[in-house]
This record gives sequence, structure tokens and C-alpha cells, in this order.
Amino acid sequence: MRLSFEFFPPRTEQGEQSLGNVATKLNDFNPEFFSCTYGAGGSTRLGTREVVTHLGALGMSCAPHLSIGNDTQTEINQLLDTYLTLGVKRIVALRGDLPSGMARSRVVNNAETLVGWIREHSGDRFHLEVAAYPEVHPDARSPAEDLDFFKRKVDAGANSALTQYFYNVQAYFDFVNRCEQANLRIPIIPGIMPLTNYEGIVRFSQNCGADIPRWIAKQLESLSDDEKSLRDFGVDVVTQLCEELLAAKVPGLHFYTLNRWGVSSRICKNLGLDHPDP
Ligand SMILES: Cc1cc2nc3c(=O)[nH]c(=O)nc-3n(C[C@H](O)[C@H](O)[C@H](O)COP(=O)(O)OP(=O)(O)OC[C@H]3O[C@@H](n4cnc5c(N)ncnc54)[C@H](O)[C@@H]3O)c2cc1C
Repeated sequence: MRLSFEFFPPRTEQGEQSLGNVATKLNDFNPEFFSCTYGAGGSTRLGTREVVTHLGALGMSCAPHLSIGNDTQTEINQLLDTYLTLGVKRIVALRGDLPSGMARSRVVNNAETLVGWIREHSGDRFHLEVAAYPEVHPDARSPAEDLDFFKRKVDAGANSALTQYFYNVQAYFDFVNRCEQANLRIPIIPGIMPLTNYEGIVRFSQNCGADIPRWIAKQLESLSDDEKSLRDFGVDVVTQLCEELLAAKVPGLHFYTLNRWGVSSRICKNLGLDHPDP
């Protein structure tokens, strides 16, 4: 069972220092890799690279995300060359969403194009992860269309996929079944979002099309003034979700850590991942 933890590039020097500590704590769970997001449009190009370098210096392997945004093939190739120099072996290849207010706010390319460009320029030197959407990407007109776009990324050369987070475990199982029926055999790793904040998760989920079941939303809302109880509730819910996934022998878990170690590590401990079976 492969474990990975996702970060975003810290915005302050203090955040950067603390990320080293966060990664060191999470490294106790022996993850296969960490990953670091990348703002489409190149807004975090430097920040993402710094995280890769920083974690590399601590002896940890970090997969940079690369969102194609509206970058040119030449810009992407330069970045790939930099990553090869840094010893990067894995990339999370995405279309990306441009931050609102950016002049060229419509992304014209998609992840399939990016995967193709990476294979064209770098052959098989990178293991490529792509995104998958058990609850259907908001841009898709139907689940079948979404699956078709996912298949195109796989055919272009993706090795495995990380899913958008979900709290309806059945959505993941249904997606994996539909992939199997479509003869898509790459590992599809569930993305796990710890629940630590009511308003943040509701707002973010509306944007990315993830469903928060009503009973969870209601509990989070009612606990929103009681940080500890909300956290405890969130840890219980997400632990249970992961237990169901692990019981079904999923190929791994990918945690969206939001650059914090506490809650992700409580969940991992609950799952016994600090003492995995040999
Ligand atoms: C694990 C994970 C990590 C992420 N990390 C980042 C990050 O670091 N930076 C960032 O900016 N964003 C990130 N995102 C968000 C992601 O960029 C958005 O979800 C974006 O809207 C889609 O990216 P994609 O790579 O899935 O795109 P694509 O797979 O290219 O497309 C997404 C959807 O759009 C539709 N679509 C694709 N191509 C076409 C077409 N030609 N015509 C019509 N419809 C089409 C399909 O429904 C498809 O599922 C991440 C998401 C996940 C799940």
C-alpha cells in the first residue's frame, strides 16, 4: 500500500521552515513520496521547485505537480529539464485552474496534452500521475465523457492517478469499476482530505465538485465553534473512510495535508500505518 502526502508551496519564510518539520513528522510513516502543488499560469513555479529542492536536501523524494495552464511547450520543456537536473522521478501532470482575475483566465490545453508533451520531451524518465474524479469533474457533461477524458490521459502515457477527495466511498468504487470495464488498469489512488474546518471545506468543495454528505456538513457546522470536537469528529469520519478503502485493498492513499501534520498523522496512526504489516 503506497502512501503519499501533498503540500502546497509555503507563502512565507516561516511557512517554509515549518514545512521541513511537517515533512519530517510525516516521513515517519514511510511515504513513497511527497508532492507539491503548482499554480497554473506559473504563479508558484519557483515555490514548487524550492519545495522539491528543500525536501530533496532532507533526503525525501518530492513529486512536483505541473499544471499546463497556458504555458508553451518550450516553457514546459525548460521546467522538465530543471526537474531532471534536480533528480525528480515523478510528476503530477494537470491542466490546472488559473487563479481568478488572471488576464488569460481560460486554460486552452488539457492534461492529456501535457502528458503527451512530457512523454515527447522526456520519454519514460518520469512516472506520471494524473488526476481522476470519482464524483465527476465539474466541466464534464456526463460521467461517460469524464471517463473518456480520463482514458485519453492514460493512453497518452499516465502511469497512475490520484483522485479528487470524496467522502462517499461508493463513488470511488463505482469509478474504479467503470475504469476496469473500460480496460483502464492503472492504479487509482484515493485522495484523502482531512476535515478540519467547516467553511473552508464547503467553499472548496463547491468549486471542485466534491460532495460533502449532509450529515457530515451538518455535524461540521454545529461544531464550528469548537475546534477540538470538530477535529475529533473529522478524524473519526476520515479514519472510517480510509478503513473502508483499505479493506477493499486500494493501491494506496494520498493525503491532502494542507501543510499540516497533526490530523493526517492521527488518521495514519489510527490506521496502523506507523506499524505496517511486513
Ligand atoms: C490530485 C490532484 C492534484 C491537483 N493539483 C493541482 C495543482 O497543483 N495545481 C492546480 O492548478 N490544480 C490542481 N488540481 C486541480 C486541477 O487542476 C483541476 O481539477 C482542473 O480543473 C482539471 O485538471 P485535470 O488535470 O484533471 O484536467 P483535464 O483532465 O485536462 O480535464 C478535466 C476535465 O475537463 C474535461 N475536459 C478535458 N479535456 C476536455 C476537452 N478537450 N473538451 C472538453 N472537456 C474536456 C473533462 O471532463 C475532464 O475530466 C489538482 C487536482 C487533483 C485531483
